[in-house]
Amino acid sequence: MMYIPDIIKIKREGKKLSEKQIDYMIGEYVKGNIPDYQAASFLMACFINGLNERETFYLTDIMRKSGDIYDFSDIEGIKVDKHSTGGVGDKISIPLAPILGCLGFIVPMVSGRGLGHTGGTLDKLESIKGLSVNIGKTQFRKQLQSIGVVMAGQTKNFVPADKKLYALRDVTGTVESVPLITASIMSKKMAEGIDSLLLDVKQGNGAFMKTMKDALLLAENMYNIGKFFNKNMIYAVTDMSQIIGDTAGNGIEIMESIDILKGKCMNSAYELVREFSIMLLIKNKIYDKRKEALNAFNKVIDSGKAYEMFLKMISMQKGDVKCLKKTDLLSNRMIEIKADKKGYLKSMDVYQMGVALIHLKAGRFRKEDNIDHKTGIFMNKHVGDAVDKNETIMKIYHNGVYEEALHILKKSFILSENDVPFRKLIKITKGIE
Ligand code: URA
Repeated sequence: MMYIPDIIKIKREGKKLSEKQIDYMIGEYVKGNIPDYQAASFLMACFINGLNERETFYLTDIMRKSGDIYDFSDIEGIKVDKHSTGGVGDKISIPLAPILGCLGFIVPMVSGRGLGHTGGTLDKLESIKGLSVNIGKTQFRKQLQSIGVVMAGQTKNFVPADKKLYALRDVTGTVESVPLITASIMSKKMAEGIDSLLLDVKQGNGAFMKTMKDALLLAENMYNIGKFFNKNMIYAVTDMSQIIGDTAGNGIEIMESIDILKGKCMNSAYELVREFSIMLLIKNKIYDKRKEALNAFNKVIDSGKAYEMFLKMISMQKGDVKCLKKTDLLSNRMIEIKADKKGYLKSMDVYQMGVALIHLKAGRFRKEDNIDHKTGIFMNKHVGDAVDKNETIMKIYHNGVYEEALHILKKSFILSENDVPFRKLIKITKGIE
């Protein structure tokens, strides 16, 4: 038996942890033998002093093995997934998973909840009445065999170490750490039974990685772990200095996802969904040329197959497909923020927007907080857009309590007199050259 404060002190002093020490810490925490305050202290020491490559690999692998490891090699088809490092308005997985399913891939997607100021795919999916993301091993396999797509969360048997640590990091200021994010994401992804993974590494003021240097470090770390496990890896470093697409919240992002699936929405969220589909098709040698991959993508949207697949997935996960109307997903209480002068939308403080969303109850301050799925924001303007005096910049959907969020959101953007230079959405990619 090891003495927990000794393990914490090793990291507090910036020394290296052995595989055994990490194994003991994580194993006992999962079993419930270590209280949250000791685990939080351990996480903070890791956050402050970092983990080297070897320690990060041990942590990832120990977390990966903390529960069941899925193997779907008997199911025909290439198993793929995409995972984002966390953003605001990042609904990409929701339309992407059914689209990939229609393109012939098998998609065993395990996602997370909101973390820090960022939103979570599972919270968004739960805006749909009845929908369950708590899918056990047997149902997971059955659903994959039946329709080829599952969107689930960790269960008590699937990477339980990340389930517990993720919730604790969310509320203890220990999120924005390269080794902790690497271990969190890659422990799940390497247990899913996939062949190929696309990592969407967010960079900018709304991401955990603010600088390109940090984003690339995270991207390379995760990429190398994926390669070690023999996966067909891609990463894309993408812009997170404005809300992705038009919306941020939960139900409101489901509405936008539906529009993307129906081909009714041509914004930055749509662009990421399209480009990620193309990258995975080319990486996995389904097509050699971008044009062919793009045609295949357009076909599944235009034929209505992508939306049909989304409805099938909702039904199989006990969601009510009749509850996808605006009134089911969005509050009818709304206020607008308008421009106080003419100009161009120069920038957004996306971190503050994420915090405002928590004030609206679209995210959590504490582990046990309940989410209000019907609150959120709609961006009428994006960075670079011309704005007239009194034009609406954004709409805030709320549940009656909005003063704090309004106060933050009013200060969350800058208007300039001059035209704003174009900002690239996908900045760097690796794995598809
Ligand atoms: N997504 C995850 O699954 N984990 C993190 O730590 C960050 C984003």
